[in-house]
Amino acid sequence: MDLSFTSEEEQLRQKVRKFLAEEIPKSGLKSASEGREDKAWLAKAKAWQRKLYEAGYVALAWPREYGGQAMDPVKQSIVNEEMVRANAPYLVGGSGLGMFGPTLISWGDEEQKKRFLPKILTAEEIWCQGYSEPGSGSDLASLQTRAVRDGDDYVIDGTKIWTTGAHVADHMFCLVRTATEGKPQDGISFVLIDSMQTPGLSVKPIVTLAGDHEVNQVFFDSVRTPVANRIGPENAGWTVAKYLLEFERGGDAYTPNLYARIEDVRRIAKEEAADGSGRLIEERGFAERLAEAEIAVQALEMIELQVLSDLSKGRNPGAVSSQMKIRGSETLQALDHLGVEALAWYAAPFEPEARMMGHNEPTVVPDLGLTAMPLYLNNRASTIYAGSNEIQRNIVAKAVLAL
Ligand SMILES: Cc1cc2nc3c(=O)[nH]c(=O)nc-3n(C[C@H](O)[C@H](O)[C@H](O)COP(=O)(O)OP(=O)(O)OC[C@H]3O[C@@H](n4cnc5c(N)ncnc54)[C@H](O)[C@@H]3O)c2cc1C
Repeated sequence: MDLSFTSEEEQLRQKVRKFLAEEIPKSGLKSASEGREDKAWLAKAKAWQRKLYEAGYVALAWPREYGGQAMDPVKQSIVNEEMVRANAPYLVGGSGLGMFGPTLISWGDEEQKKRFLPKILTAEEIWCQGYSEPGSGSDLASLQTRAVRDGDDYVIDGTKIWTTGAHVADHMFCLVRTATEGKPQDGISFVLIDSMQTPGLSVKPIVTLAGDHEVNQVFFDSVRTPVANRIGPENAGWTVAKYLLEFERGGDAYTPNLYARIEDVRRIAKEEAADGSGRLIEERGFAERLAEAEIAVQALEMIELQVLSDLSKGRNPGAVSSQMKIRGSETLQALDHLGVEALAWYAAPFEPEARMMGHNEPTVVPDLGLTAMPLYLNNRASTIYAGSNEIQRNIVAKAVLAL
């Protein structure tokens, strides 16, 4: 197997590296949750995605007629890798680009694609995902949010929960119950909410353990959306929903991110401890756990390359995305743990007792010192969202191992 890049791919890498070195905004746009309430932050985040799109670095593999460049997905992967290496701000329209866009390309009608895809690329319109409900997470097919036909509209009543970014989104793609007879999976439709400002729709913030406002509960009180906003046939939404999830589940398994985290941890662990007790990297137990994480990332990278190769041939990831989700999220948490351990006092820069004792000045490692604990807390959710890891193990058992 030849894993090397072609000279054309290497040229693209050099070009995007130069672009990023010159264009990355100096102001802090990095964190997913930071400043999300703030309109100025949102405008900056949207402008950054638009700039990347105009430079030709967004959705390279999408078809030309929908704003892409019909390139091999390997090229998009090179751009993404360079973005991680350059510590570039994340893309605010990620759920549209990574999940909803590819689903719409496969399942939407021409009018829907022409209407929604261009604004996903430029981040003019941000999407959120309305799947989970208070009583329906792992058992998603039991969802109760009801959509009833009234002329050319559906009228929706119910509630969605854990909706990431609903407070900054313009639209929601969601699953609604359109039939109650037969198998629960056969009574679900995939519909789009025209605007998060539609009368009857309200968004209530949920602040997580890490102190962030990323997720919300969304309430529908007779919310109207046109029947023309349904993706796929009525009551066939379950198939569309599962297709989208294949794209969602690879996210945390993204190995350039994980390699960058390993380097951060290693850098800290190589520092001499402030109390003169030596370097953590020389402690066998710590070094072994870091090596184990690195081996796990290398194994994951092989799966990632296989998926990339399948995508290049027009095949979707399939159930292997569940395997990537398990390995990626668990390795991420292991690295978070090592990061906090390596920083010790410095991992809690806001902890009052540490501050009083003068232990919290993050002078050694200002970047990781300020982010290790929020990352640790935030990433506790990574084994839950996009379908919990227990559920992914069930999928792998059935679909990959045929047990
Ligand atoms: C930070 C965050 C962001 C999220 N963003 C979104 C979003 O944008 N949109 C959206 O729709 N949803 C979102 N979710 C919801 C997420 O998809 C659900 O939390 C997840 O599917 C689990 O459902 P639940 O929370 O109802 O847990 P439950 O289904 O109640 O599960 C509780 C526990 O039981 C286990 N369990 C349940 N059934 C089984 C089984 N059959 N076998 C073995 N173990 C089982 C689970 O693994 C879990 O450990 C988000 C969640 C989080 C934490």
